[in-house]
Amino acid sequence: MATKKTFEENLALTADYRAVVAERGVKNIINGERVDGSTGRTFTTSSPIDNSEICHVAEGDATDIDRAAQAAWDAFPAWAAMDGKKRRDILYRYAELIEENAERISLLESLDTGQPIRFMAKAALRGAANFRYFADQAVGAQDGQSLPTKEHLNYTIRTPIGPVGVITPWNTPFMLSTWKIAPALACGCTVVHKPAELSPVTAQILTELGHEAGLPPGVLNLVNGFGETAGKALTEHHHIKAIAFVGESYTGSLIMQQGALTLKRVHFELGGKNPVIVFADADLERALDAAIFMKYSLNGERCTSSSRLLVEAPVYEEFTEKLAERVKQIKVGNPLDPATEVGPLIDSGHLNKVQSYVDLATEEGATKTSGGGQPAGLEAGNYINPTFVKNATADMRIAQEEIFGPYLTAISFDDDDQALEIANSVKYGLTAYIWTKDVTRALNMAHKVEAGMVWVNSQNVRHLPAPFGGVKSSGIGRDGGDYSFEFYMETKNISIALGDHAISKLGAS
Ligand code: NAD
Repeated sequence: MATKKTFEENLALTADYRAVVAERGVKNIINGERVDGSTGRTFTTSSPIDNSEICHVAEGDATDIDRAAQAAWDAFPAWAAMDGKKRRDILYRYAELIEENAERISLLESLDTGQPIRFMAKAALRGAANFRYFADQAVGAQDGQSLPTKEHLNYTIRTPIGPVGVITPWNTPFMLSTWKIAPALACGCTVVHKPAELSPVTAQILTELGHEAGLPPGVLNLVNGFGETAGKALTEHHHIKAIAFVGESYTGSLIMQQGALTLKRVHFELGGKNPVIVFADADLERALDAAIFMKYSLNGERCTSSSRLLVEAPVYEEFTEKLAERVKQIKVGNPLDPATEVGPLIDSGHLNKVQSYVDLATEEGATKTSGGGQPAGLEAGNYINPTFVKNATADMRIAQEEIFGPYLTAISFDDDDQALEIANSVKYGLTAYIWTKDVTRALNMAHKVEAGMVWVNSQNVRHLPAPFGGVKSSGIGRDGGDYSFEFYMETKNISIALGDHAISKLGAS
């Protein structure tokens, strides 16, 4: 089960797990075999806690991707033809194994990503829940519709699209990977997974547990490596029929280009600059809790985070003052400490990026109430003080660009129209959060705000059957429930004549 241990216990356990990972390294898993990259080259992954090396990682390239894609291609017919109940049972076992290993997964995920254990423990369990949910759908995945006319019976069936590529980012890699891999496997696709080079440790565990659960060789393959080489080769491979990608918007554009020649189907979950819109009539205490949680949980390295705080003018000062006080109290520390609320950022490059936006805030004329710089005693890691900036305007770069760190920008608005204009002024459109007790206003805002997902009087609470995805530069397509199967499957229409309907006679006169 997931960790409920003290900091000291977590440190001791993590040291044990880490020693095993350091000894074994992270390798590729192709056709059920754990192998080095074809060139023998490796790269290292380090812990954001102190930038110490965790282990060596096999560096896959186009040759490794080709082997993995071939393995996925060869394994596809039998996996696709397997009785849905059998696939379901393997995925149930997969979920159980994730639960049994949740503590190891969550501690290593914290070590590799810097994400606080208080969130990672749940993320590992959610990974198991994803497998269980999609396993339940495996049996009916091929079901279609009956669309009869007077003369024909049309009916549809669904078939898995083929081998698919899954490319994931570094922020919460385990959970995000299960979100893609579970539905792909449930509907009968085979998979080649290319995890992010900055946090590859738990992807190996995920793939190994799949084989332990009974996945036949070649059904789930893992190739580590860099985006420009391994990732690119995966998106270009002729055996790979679709790419499920989570990452930056710009990378999404590259993938679309790279996949064009082989006509890849793509599903993109990309960046965000999501508004939380607080009206004066809202339950301000709850709105405050949610705004803080949705920005400072998961180190702010969260695509759905509410990174722009839009507050109605009459309550702006009071609300932002209270928020500023709370942000100063957020506990920054070692992610393995259950008391830690914000851990270190993924690497020093990202730390510098977030810090540059702290500097930019003052240059652009906004007011920083706290944040930036490294907390005393934590200089060895990629820690940054949680940042809150107020008195920003919608056109500032700090209000337009994705910062992806514990950094919140507040803007005041006068009425519904202005709130909407500011909310929609960015290139992104992933989520929006609306706080008001006025139902009509909430519905009007929810319908007009440019976002794939809207929460009213709530933080982000995921419901697996509901669609997940963004509009504008935040993504293409939807995940979740049957939306996932729509992506990983082809729909075929079959039409049977019900009698002797008219057929035009050509050349018969
Ligand atoms: P990234 O785009 O740099 O990398 C993501 C993955 O793409 C990595 O595995 C990387 O190796 C690979 N990649 C890079 N270049 C590639 C190429 N040319 N071809 C194929 N693959 C390539 O993103 P990141 O920095 O790892 O993650 C942070 C980003 O992810 C943020 O923008 C965040 O908003 C986004 N994100 C979105 C969601 C969502 O659901 N919308 C969820 C989590 C993260």
